[in-house]
Amino acid sequence: MSLLEDLQKRSGNVCELCAATDNLEVYEVQPKSTGGLDGSLLGCSTCIGQIEDPDTTDANHWRCLNDSMWSEHEAVKVIAWRMLSRLKAEGWPKDLLDMLYLEDDTLVWAKETGEGVDESEKIIHRDVNGVILENGDSVVLIKDLKVKGSSMVAKQGTAVRRISLDRENAEFIEGKVGPTQIVIITKYVKKI
Ligand SMILES: [Zn+2]
Repeated sequence: MSLLEDLQKRSGNVCELCAATDNLEVYEVQPKSTGGLDGSLLGCSTCIGQIEDPDTTDANHWRCLNDSMWSEHEAVKVIAWRMLSRLKAEGWPKDLLDMLYLEDDTLVWAKETGEGVDESEKIIHRDVNGVILENGDSVVLIKDLKVKGSSMVAKQGTAVRRISLDRENAEFIEGKVGPTQIVIITKYVKKI
């Protein structure tokens, strides 16, 4: 069976968000790393259009999430979470969002597009000079750092390549010193 057929079967051939029966298509939930049946939903053109273009979002259309947010399918829950986050200033979406429970992995997925995150709430990592750090950057340590839980000291001047950012805390990055993955405080590094 094709993905479309699988989704038609799963959904009973209705939009998995608003239950519309016309103009249904496969929608792969961004980012498309998951793909396949678990990473997709069957959506109508109205829902998909509004997901893709925030300027056209009609809050009332999304009252359908009252029902569909209880779907057992992660892809549907992720979109419910994103759309409710986008619309939370309306009031009622915030109430639904408070009731919507996502497993940790699913929540990470839901947040991956930055939907519903205010600019002011975005976590920005900066080095000692205030330079913004991104995943994959290289940094150098500006002082000797004791590595927690070991006797190792990472020396001042050590380069740490391909850092990864702690998603939840702007003060922490991770990177490898020698073979060891360590957590480093951003104020002790300088971007190179
Ligand atoms: Zn729909």
